[in-house]
Amino acid sequence: MTTSTIINPATEEVLRTVEQTPLEAVDDAVARAVAAQRAWARLAPAERAAALRAFAAAVDAHVDELAALEVANSGHPIGNAEWEAGHVRDVLLYYAASPERLSGKQIPVAGGLDVTFNEPLGVVGVITPWNFPMTIASWGFAPALAAGNAVLVKPAEWTPLTTIRLGELAVEAGLPADLLQVLPGRGSVVGERFVTHPDIRKVVFTGSTEVGTRVMAGAAAQVKRVTLELGGKSANIVFDDCDLEKAAATAPYGVFDNAGQDCCARSRILVQRNVLDRFMELLEPAVKGVVVGDPRSRDTEMGPLVSKSHWETVASYVPDDAPVAFRGAAPSGRGFWFPPTVLMPDRADRTVREEIFGPVVAVLPFDDEADAIALANDTPYGLSGSIWTDNLSRALRVSRSVESGNLSVNSHSSVRYNTPFGGFKQSGLGRELGPDAPLSFTETKNVFFAIGGA
Ligand code: NAD
Repeated sequence: MTTSTIINPATEEVLRTVEQTPLEAVDDAVARAVAAQRAWARLAPAERAAALRAFAAAVDAHVDELAALEVANSGHPIGNAEWEAGHVRDVLLYYAASPERLSGKQIPVAGGLDVTFNEPLGVVGVITPWNFPMTIASWGFAPALAAGNAVLVKPAEWTPLTTIRLGELAVEAGLPADLLQVLPGRGSVVGERFVTHPDIRKVVFTGSTEVGTRVMAGAAAQVKRVTLELGGKSANIVFDDCDLEKAAATAPYGVFDNAGQDCCARSRILVQRNVLDRFMELLEPAVKGVVVGDPRSRDTEMGPLVSKSHWETVASYVPDDAPVAFRGAAPSGRGFWFPPTVLMPDRADRTVREEIFGPVVAVLPFDDEADAIALANDTPYGLSGSIWTDNLSRALRVSRSVESGNLSVNSHSSVRYNTPFGGFKQSGLGRELGPDAPLSFTETKNVFFAIGGA
């Protein structure tokens, strides 16, 4: 069995090695998941709900351990990592209410009784990226389990540790051993087998648009269901009538959270031209004030990038002659540190068009509302975005016009477990979270019962 070496990105120390699941073991896991799913779906809804609540309680009892593991494996600041572990608990608790509420419909028809059932799909494969390992895994497994499915999770190669621990906690909490299995390994082995294995009925993929496109093409061969959560190049649109101080003070946190390794990062700041100079004056101290450092420290707001190779990718977007407006601070020495960086490039520059997935933001001026909307939509992506204005009509007009799945007005919020999340255009397909997520792990079955005459 091959292994991968897990590195602490803040120190470059080796944390441990993780065995990579070989192909035969994936097939074995699928076979066991098929059997576990049948038994799970036969349980009374209240029993499945209780099992998910027990899993949530186990996560709650291990928030500190999970957070420490994420700090070490992914370099997330401790406060963020604690929020992420708590979010997994909350996602489980929210969907623990679903088994008893997947009620189907009774539809009035002539000559009989017509009802729909929300049948589970069977076994679901969840493929996660390295940027938010725990939370993204839970967005797949919690609603899928609630709807009566078994789940196999393949974490990203660089950051498997918290997902492996969540798999152990599920068993410790009493979930059947084969119901939720974590299979660390390569995308080209485990991930591709999720796509090709006929007993995996749905793939939930979160990652790059490039790989997501391949997953969708492969799934087509079996008309396999997919949910895709892919890349982003979101706009933070700052109009001249907004609270400019607040817009500037919060803009760094809309893009540099998780060191910019966030699919929702507002990596293009669009500023109305007549307030550009003032906005930049206000933005500079805000960017320089971002506390970058040891992720174990409670003062830290931004940690390192996840790996050396990712650091090199991000750095390639900021060559020596890059149009840098200003930079924040970052530690030197060991660790994959990259300072928050503000660019003022041309609209056609690759830093404006491509997802950098690091702490690099492009500031672009716009002339009027129409120009702002056109610029915001001038991207193949459509995941997230923010609109800063004190004009309610403008806020409504612009939020209806920006082609994006998750917008916030006068804030940078994107993710709540009880509201739907997902992308327009090449940012994805389908929605996660919110009240309807379990339905995307079911098939609707319609049954008509003829009623004979009395
Ligand atoms: P990636 O596409 O390289 O990898 C994602 C996952 O897919 C990993 O687990 C990887 O092992 C697996 N994989 C690789 N090749 C595969 C294949 N051929 N078949 C099946 N699986 C395969 O992405 P990444 O670098 O880990 O993550 C960063 C990307 O994820 C960014 O583009 C980011 O925007 C995106 N992302 C999107 C969301 C969202 O909700 N929309 C959330 C987080 C990250």
